[in-house]
Amino acid sequence: MVNAVFPGSFDPPTFGHLNIIERARLIFGEVHVVVAVNREKKYTFSAEERVDLIRGMVRQWDNVKVHAWDTLIVEYARKIHAHVLIRGVRNITDFSYEFDLAMMNRSLNPEIDTVFLSPDPQYFVLRSSAIKELAAFGGDVSSMVPKAVADLLSQKLYHAPISTKNEKV
Ligand code: ADP
Repeated sequence: MVNAVFPGSFDPPTFGHLNIIERARLIFGEVHVVVAVNREKKYTFSAEERVDLIRGMVRQWDNVKVHAWDTLIVEYARKIHAHVLIRGVRNITDFSYEFDLAMMNRSLNPEIDTVFLSPDPQYFVLRSSAIKELAAFGGDVSSMVPKAVADLLSQKLYHAPISTKNEKV
């Protein structure tokens, strides 16, 4: 049984991430989704929130586990004896970034292979950062993230606009 690790920021998790997890769980024995905790990065959602949201999204799949991890991902893979890292790629820009990352991870641990998966076409455009921008303006993100994520996004980011009724445009 080959187990795999799917690391990422998941800030927040989207249907694009979920689609990659769903594909991976059909290929690998266990999929360990690992929420990155990097002290240098500023996240909108805490590690606990990101873990809880993903757990809610994958609870129907018993071969998917979710954890937070605050050091190198290859160390996590070593700890659980997983030799595969999964990364999602949407386009050539993602690929060139992901390829460099894969080379770096391989030099850190030569036993690790990175497997790239692409989502179904309807998830290609989903990007956590763009979804946050949309949510901040009160846009409808219900086709992009599960309801629990949409609710928390709105709670954290949405500020109702100041009335513009007297302004000429
Ligand atoms: P990171 O900061 O590690 O890139 P992300 O949460 O942005 O964290 O992404 C985690 C992984 O999921 C990355 O491999 C990314 O390319 C992939 N990913 C993100 N959104 C999508 C999507 N819509 N379709 C496929 N893969 C995606």
